[in-house]
Amino acid sequence: MPQHRPASAAPAHQATITPALAESMAAAGLEPGRSPAPVRLPDAGALFQRRADRLRRLMPGHRLSGWLAFIAQVSDAQHALAAIPVTGATDPAVRWRQDLDGLRERLSGRLPDMAERALAALPWGDADALSAAADRLRTGTLREEEIGGAPFLVAALQVAWTRMASGLTAGAVAASAVADHCPVCGSEPVAGVIHAGSEASGRRYLHCGLCHTAWHHVRSACVCCGEGNRIDLQRVEGAAETGSDAGGGTSNAAQAETCESCHSYLKLFVEEKAPGLDPVADDLASFALDILVSDAGFQRIGGNPFLAQAG
Ligand SMILES: [Zn+2]
Ligand SMILES: [Zn+2]
Repeated sequence: MPQHRPASAAPAHQATITPALAESMAAAGLEPGRSPAPVRLPDAGALFQRRADRLRRLMPGHRLSGWLAFIAQVSDAQHALAAIPVTGATDPAVRWRQDLDGLRERLSGRLPDMAERALAALPWGDADALSAAADRLRTGTLREEEIGGAPFLVAALQVAWTRMASGLTAGAVAASAVADHCPVCGSEPVAGVIHAGSEASGRRYLHCGLCHTAWHHVRSACVCCGEGNRIDLQRVEGAAETGSDAGGGTSNAAQAETCESCHSYLKLFVEEKAPGLDPVADDLASFALDILVSDAGFQRIGGNPFLAQAG
């Protein structure tokens, strides 16, 4: 599992910041005296419900609507779990197995046949086997027969890590403006998001697909090779690749930011073009864009944990 690296000291706040202003700045992901906020922590109580809603807006007419509906159903169960006060273990590296049990209680008997079989086939009651499978998930070495059950492992890990991340203080998490891994859980980003509607507007944040922390990353620098201004960053529009506009319109929000220097690409979403977007959901719904860009010879930076493959 990745290392959890919370810093110890909270930032000193300016005396002129009123509670009302501080509240609205916090809602915008901004910290007094530090703009843009280097880190935006998740709201575990709202994130999974927003994802389920977003997926259901993206589903109509989408060629992967069955898959999106399944993840929406899993997101509902994650939301129910995230809302329950935690007792006992809080370390996400341990706690996630309880969350996996909780997911099973909420999903068993309600899933499509294939997913039902995959859920039943997990090594229930064998903590060592489950932990080993989770480790393989994180290191991209899943076995072929484990792929079907992987979304449930991902979902449980997300709940445990997001619950932990949402309890941190943003100013206490150290993040570099060129970090390519999540400053809280160490995962690679699922995507970048160009934010809108706040002082973070126009800024690029990288979003973690595990603990759902977002961290500011210098927009002009390639996330992979960090070549900075010396390289060109192309943006390949994902128009017509992501399903029905009527279903929420990610078609204009999904882009692939390609680097000609190292031949990598970052999935990128523009909030202004798709209010309410969720990087994990919108990434699943724009999978066709990945095929387009990888066929052109680019290798993806990071990835979506729900799209884990066998190693
Ligand atoms: Zn993370
Ligand atoms: Zn590069």
